Amino acid sequence: MLYIDPSTCVDCGACVSACPVGAIVPGHRLSDEAARFADVNAGHYPGVEQSDTRFPVRTEWRLPMAPIVKPVALRGQAPDELRIAIVGSGPSAMYAADELLKHRQVKVTVYERLREPFGLARFGVAPDHESTRTVTNLFNEVARHPNIQILLNTEIGRDITLEELRSTHHAVLWAGGAPTDRPLQIPGVDLDGVQSATSVVGWYNGHPDFAYAAPVLSTERAVVIGNGNVALDVARIFTADTDRLASTTIDPTALAALRGSQIREVVVVARRGPEHAAFTLPELIGLADGGARVWVDPAELDGVDVAGITDPTIAAKVELLREISQRPRPAEPFIRLAFGQTPVKVLGSEHASGVEFVKTGTEEKSVIEAGLVLTAIGYRGRPVPGLPFDDDKGTVAHVAGRVVNDGEPIPGLYVTGWIKRGPSGFIGTNKTDSGETVANLLADAEAGALPRPGGAPVSV
Ligand SMILES: Cc1cc2nc3c(=O)[nH]c(=O)nc-3n(C[C@H](O)[C@H](O)[C@H](O)COP(=O)(O)OP(=O)(O)OC[C@H]3O[C@@H](n4cnc5c(N)ncnc54)[C@H](O)[C@@H]3O)c2cc1C
Repeated sequence: MLYIDPSTCVDCGACVSACPVGAIVPGHRLSDEAARFADVNAGHYPGVEQSDTRFPVRTEWRLPMAPIVKPVALRGQAPDELRIAIVGSGPSAMYAADELLKHRQVKVTVYERLREPFGLARFGVAPDHESTRTVTNLFNEVARHPNIQILLNTEIGRDITLEELRSTHHAVLWAGGAPTDRPLQIPGVDLDGVQSATSVVGWYNGHPDFAYAAPVLSTERAVVIGNGNVALDVARIFTADTDRLASTTIDPTALAALRGSQIREVVVVARRGPEHAAFTLPELIGLADGGARVWVDPAELDGVDVAGITDPTIAAKVELLREISQRPRPAEPFIRLAFGQTPVKVLGSEHASGVEFVKTGTEEKSVIEAGLVLTAIGYRGRPVPGLPFDDDKGTVAHVAGRVVNDGEPIPGLYVTGWIKRGPSGFIGTNKTDSGETVANLLADAEAGALPRPGGAPVSV
């Protein structure tokens, strides 16, 4: 029996896939042979009503317990068969499908433009983050449910129109992600040797859109502009032991190129100081203690007063940066974290030769020479044809997952994931996000507020 601390758990479901013997199963996916285990489990907690599918407190221990949910039927005016189309098969789509499939009447069809499912869980997460990637085991479990089909290599807007989907399903749930980089707008970004960190991520993960995006590795130094988790991922892969990478899911062509890499130093440069670093504390801990060669010049922390930082997570980040700065400079190739530098232009005639910076808030110039410049300043959603777009936020316009036009919900249209809330949070965040959207979709189904579809679902 597991006790899962509910104040820490984000209910992402990763433990289900991580269990080596498959012993953790959500109640609603127990097979008929195993169905009695839900009752056995309920009987284990005296004082809790059998009809209650949630077990909030084990009376003797006074500990909150994880909920066990059995399949339930939709009520009210929900149709006997509720057909839902989900566009995209990334984490938000698969968590939404899992939530929907708790209801017997629901039939889900997932449409995915790529030949492989699971979005950034497959094509974004770094190949050496093996434990994070095991979340795809959970999504495979969801995909095995008898009421879901996943149509790969099918792009909505190219192979099937949104209108066709709407006319053949009670609801369409858009979960297409936010795949576009925020562009860095400084002179020189068009030079050879400048590219987005996203394209490099796609390249080393074997994403078909980025097969062309092999970076220049015949240079001694690379500069990454921006210091979010993606910047650290790329820097770590560029400086990793290639024999260690060989045991991961890294694309073989990328691995071969990295084996011949001349890069000795990757400088990850941020505009603001260490106390504003965009990378998360776990990512920095993983880097500092996970065998990566990382270094911070002690001068970067001059004037940063940890005692004056009230947020404990930020204070812990700065403490760890200080600890790293006191370590000996590592052997090459290594990562250097630099702060407080605003990029002004990429230098070079045809090919990038370096980046000119000014110390943020001053006019003090400096140059870092580099033959490869990667931009990693965040993501942004692209407008989806046929769906109202909120240009300020870079997301589909919605209220709690219901797509809206001028504030009014459009019946049968929903949104979830990065294209709903913007590119933030980690994989588990999409579970909560999709939970909200699905709850509203099902409430609309029970209220009889979904359009009635015409013919059978289309496939190509
Ligand atoms: C480089 C990178 C590394 C990351 N690493 C981590 C990590 O280590 N840990 C972590 O917790 N989080 C990580 N994240 C964040 C995590 O990947 C996201 O939170 C999550 O993938 C967002 O899910 P999504 O379903 O909204 O979008 P996506 O994962 O982008 O999925 C969208 C899917 O929709 C498909 N699609 C788009 N348009 C269409 C269309 N018209 N028709 C059909 N299909 C379509 C796409 O092909 C894609 O498969 C990382 C993100 C990035 C960018």
